[in-house]
Amino acid sequence: MIGEITAATSALAGIKTIVDGFVAERDAVKLQQTRAELFKLVADAWQAVFALQLALQSKVAEVAKLEGEKRELEEKLTRAKAGATQFEGYELAQIARGLFVYTSAPEADGSRKPPYLCPTCMNDGVRSILNFQREGGRQEQAYFVCPKNSGHRLAAPRGLWSIDHFGRPPGPPQVEVATPPSGG
Ligand SMILES: [Zn+2]
Repeated sequence: MIGEITAATSALAGIKTIVDGFVAERDAVKLQQTRAELFKLVADAWQAVFALQLALQSKVAEVAKLEGEKRELEEKLTRAKAGATQFEGYELAQIARGLFVYTSAPEADGSRKPPYLCPTCMNDGVRSILNFQREGGRQEQAYFVCPKNSGHRLAAPRGLWSIDHFGRPPGPPQVEVATPPSGG
């Protein structure tokens, strides 16, 4: 870049020197020589300006590319920051046998209330609240469906068909009610 600027400047300075002496020139042959010299200098100057322009263009392209990369990194950072806060307090937890979702911290009684977040989307940094759905007639089956991707459907264990069945506090297995002793 600096080299191109120097070349262009010195070529232009050369032209000026010749043009200054041009008027004083009397000898025809000498004039012819000077003309040829001038022509060559003008050609050199054009070449230098052209090279300068090319160098300038590549610098401009380089700056534009760097600016684009900077913008991209800033956007990524903003997204990462937003991602870090939108999942604050959420953790992976089992809300029914074998059914893992992201939920907020357990309540005082140990239960985990909705909203439940899609664990697959969460891994991609996307917040997606699962919808509870029931299908079927007699053999009713419940699902948690991801609104962002229908492939992220989580089947609930059979027999659990109400949203109230999920996120129950873990506790000791229910003790079977003992048959009262028959009073003789
Ligand atoms: Zn999802």
